[in-house]
This record gives sequence, C-alpha cells and structure tokens, in this order.
Amino acid sequence: MLNRMLKAAAFKKAFAHLAAGETDEGRHLLEDLQAEYVALCDENKALKRQLIEVAEIVDLSEALEFDGRTYWLVEDMRRKGPFCQLCYDKDGLLIRLQEKEARWRCLSCDSNYDKPSRDELSLPEGGPQGHAQHRVIPLFVK
Ligand SMILES: [Zn+2]
Repeated sequence: MLNRMLKAAAFKKAFAHLAAGETDEGRHLLEDLQAEYVALCDENKALKRQLIEVAEIVDLSEALEFDGRTYWLVEDMRRKGPFCQLCYDKDGLLIRLQEKEARWRCLSCDSNYDKPSRDELSLPEGGPQGHAQHRVIPLFVK
C-alpha cells in the first residue's frame, strides 16, 4: 500500500517537473517508473507460473494414493504405478518402479519395495493405509 502511494507520488512529481519545463528531471523519474513497471510485470508473470505449478502439484497429490509402501496414481478409476515413495517424498518425482522377481525396484534411487501380498492388495479403498495419509506437498520443485 505504501509502495503504491509512493509510486503515485512519483508520477505526480514527474508530471510536475514536466509541467514546469524541467524535462530532464521528469524524464528520469518516468524512466525509473518504467523500469519498475517492467520488473513488476516480470515478477507477476513468474508468480502466475508458480501458481499454475502449485495447482498442478495439488492436483497430482490428490490423485496419488499411498498403499503404505508405494504411491499409485488414480486416474479415471484406474490405478497406475506403483511409484517410488522415496523419490516422490524427497524430490516430488514420480518414478515408476520396475518389477524384479518378488520386488519392485526404483532405477533412480535404487530403493527396493516388497510387493504386497494378495491379501494386502484386496484391502478395501480407504483402509488402514488408504486415503487418510497426510503428507507435505513439495512446492516449486525444479
Ligand atoms: Zn526412487
């Protein structure tokens, strides 16, 4: 708010200089204001990009299901995955696990995960390891 008032005062001052025929002073002030305007536009563009990024991360985290070991992406009632828990929690990356005999392996961080038994797979949705998991959403992951 104060910043906005200072800007308004700076414009007034610039116009006063111009009205008084002090064109150099007026021009310098307007050039400063122009540079600040350009910087604000750049900042605004970056903030909009970050907002879209956050919305995408929130959408993604809402579509993810943690089964107690690994993450699954639930899209159109279908489960895709599994994805590495460590890579997602640490870096926000969805790394698909590779099946290796009775285990799943992350080729990015070398984590190994036991495949759930048939009993565990038939757990109803929202069971003890279902949707109730709370996790920190990684923000602004590069
Ligand atoms: Zn991993």
